[in-house]
Amino acid sequence: MTPQTDLRPLSAAQAQAWKDRVLPAVERIADGTWAVPVPIPDNPLRYTYSYLLEADDGVAVVDPGWDGDARLQALLEGLSGAGYAPTDIVGIVVTHYHRDHLGLVPALLSLQPGAWLALHSHDVESIDAFRVRASRTTPSSLLALGADLGLPEQRFEELAKSFGGRARSADRTVFAFDWPDALLKVEDEALLPIAGRQIRVLWTPGHTFGHIALHDEETQTFFSGDHVLPGISPNIGLDVTSIGHSLGDYLGSLERMRELPEDVAVAPAHGFRFDGLRIRADQLMQHHDQRLDELRARAAATDDQSVYSMCRGMEWARGFEGLAGFQLYAALMETAAHMHYLDMPVPSLDGTRQGA
Ligand SMILES: [Zn+2]
Repeated sequence: MTPQTDLRPLSAAQAQAWKDRVLPAVERIADGTWAVPVPIPDNPLRYTYSYLLEADDGVAVVDPGWDGDARLQALLEGLSGAGYAPTDIVGIVVTHYHRDHLGLVPALLSLQPGAWLALHSHDVESIDAFRVRASRTTPSSLLALGADLGLPEQRFEELAKSFGGRARSADRTVFAFDWPDALLKVEDEALLPIAGRQIRVLWTPGHTFGHIALHDEETQTFFSGDHVLPGISPNIGLDVTSIGHSLGDYLGSLERMRELPEDVAVAPAHGFRFDGLRIRADQLMQHHDQRLDELRARAAATDDQSVYSMCRGMEWARGFEGLAGFQLYAALMETAAHMHYLDMPVPSLDGTRQGA
């Protein structure tokens, strides 16, 4: 047998739906385990897989998905298809605080206030910080950020809209809920309190500082969140609370994939189920090596060492000129994360810096 050289889809239906750009059906992926696609509005990722984990006393939900009635409907239909009512939910696990994972948490908690909510302590801290940050983000702090990044003045407003607007809108919707009484701040290696299951937390900082993945030690399923995805390189650098070390953290977290059994089935938050976790981790490491090479070449070729200038010199799927609004912001953060990794100076990106 020839050795495996690329990842292999484990669900033909999911892989086909991904290719055809349609929503896949709910799928039972292992004993007591379902994948429920929850749509994401206006986003190329199109949907998040929410995973349902049967427990002895009910069901746990991993990454409920983007907020809103239509998404809640999709999740509740999946839940009911698996034989559960919202009141059967014993707990909710969130791999990281992004809206396409955490968005429906408040809605689920209001349907089932007794459920526990588990996320990594660092993402709990990030959310607490965002609740403060959004109220401290001012037009002058955003102008100062634009200048620090080396942005031409005519693009300041675009950045302010995508950075400030998004932060404020997330604050109003996603983060505007009270922590439940049963908030579990989980750490690396923790076993989740899902009765009858053996689900272990793996802390995988990078995409966010508190990103976690979950290893089901019985079914040998690895819920990778956004840490390792098929065909997509997760954005590194968006976590403004940990911009200082996000790429180094991420590469370290990819390295840790070697701790898992080689034949583990990867159940990601986007895309499709696959095997070949180590192969995929290696591909992602190579991708970042290549990005770092692009950055070194750019830095050697120009005197303007600003984040904007470096970003202009790197390769982007739709070209640098095609980057606008939030995509531009994301590209700048990604560039900044790579620059920081190479010890190049980057401005403070936490959005709280006050302009003169
Ligand atoms: Zn995601």
